[in-house]
Amino acid sequence: MNLIDLGWNDFFKAHFESLDLDNVIPARVAVQQKDRSVIICEEGELWAEVSGKFRHAALSKSDYPTVGDWVAITMKPGGDGAVIQALLPRKSKFSRRAVLDGETGEQVLSANIDTAFVVCGLDGEYKLRRLERYIAVAYDSGTSPVVILNKSDLCDEVDAIRSEVEATATGVPVHPVSAITKDGLDVLDDYLEKGRTAAFLGSSGVGKSTIINSLLGYERQRTGEVRESDRRGRHITTYRELIVLPNGGILIDTPGMREIEIWGEQDGLSRAFDDIEALASQCRFNDCSHATEPGCAVREALENGDLDNDRYQNYLKLQKELQRLAIRKSGKEAHYQKLQGKKFSSMVKEVKKFKRDKLG
Ligand code: GDP
Ligand code: ZN
Repeated sequence: MNLIDLGWNDFFKAHFESLDLDNVIPARVAVQQKDRSVIICEEGELWAEVSGKFRHAALSKSDYPTVGDWVAITMKPGGDGAVIQALLPRKSKFSRRAVLDGETGEQVLSANIDTAFVVCGLDGEYKLRRLERYIAVAYDSGTSPVVILNKSDLCDEVDAIRSEVEATATGVPVHPVSAITKDGLDVLDDYLEKGRTAAFLGSSGVGKSTIINSLLGYERQRTGEVRESDRRGRHITTYRELIVLPNGGILIDTPGMREIEIWGEQDGLSRAFDDIEALASQCRFNDCSHATEPGCAVREALENGDLDNDRYQNYLKLQKELQRLAIRKSGKEAHYQKLQGKKFSSMVKEVKKFKRDKLG
């Protein structure tokens, strides 16, 4: 497999070349399981595990490889798989909250995605507020959102809804398609040039699998699997979560992405709601809470109908979620700092003990 086809570019190359490691080659993670990965490299597809050194240096779950990551590997002797020596920096990442050891931590679901197709159905399932949320998540993850309005064959108001979505998601491309009749589907090719990585977000039933199967040209459920025997000879069947498409472009489809929540900083939200941020910047007071202050541009826009109240309420709700998360995250960070301190102090103790024992 050619690295460029897999999404390799100058960004990863520069980081790879700055690694001080011997005999490593680049590879991309196609499947991530608990302790091991399936990676794709120029040699093909291999099972891989992280090295002991890697494990030792990893402070949190998010330091481990995930689907879409670029890693530096060494081959095991005898072609018996590979060892992941290092993880290259991520250009983007989709994370979710996960409770680990009773604490909220970041679980990275996928990495290095360029385009996030936000899919919604035009069959009554269409919900503007949910769309806003997915767009915020996409921005927050460092990807570019593209809205796909699927099931256009079931809707008589495609143009009206498209305009409404375009008005809400300013600057985000909006494409009505039908995965069944294939009407409009070829627009996806524009985002799936060779080496570009895309993923699909959206609620269950909106047609993500149908669109993916149509891009693949086969039913992924039946044939998109990796068959391998593990060391004990058991057969393992895994669905490949990173797929190079026949027409170029790379698709990442992992189950957890589907009902992804917002995780991250304020940036994604600000971009998804830039109209509200622009209004807020016109308020008389810099720290206006848009509640009772005089000269509030947000309240004025709400009153005269320039700003939709539902949209504003959704913004407030997402903002609250982010604030709660920020509090939890800072708790988590303090925990890691303590852990790092512990690792260091136990190392100092070990050295002292060694000196005492060996050197007298
Ligand atoms: P997912 O949960 O988002 O992966 O949704 P699926 O791809 O499983 O689709 C859910 C249902 O919607 C299936 O019964 C599909 O056949 C149907 N469906 C998907 N796309 C379209 C479409 O463009 N038009 C119509 N009429 N049905 C569709
Ligand atoms: Zn205000």
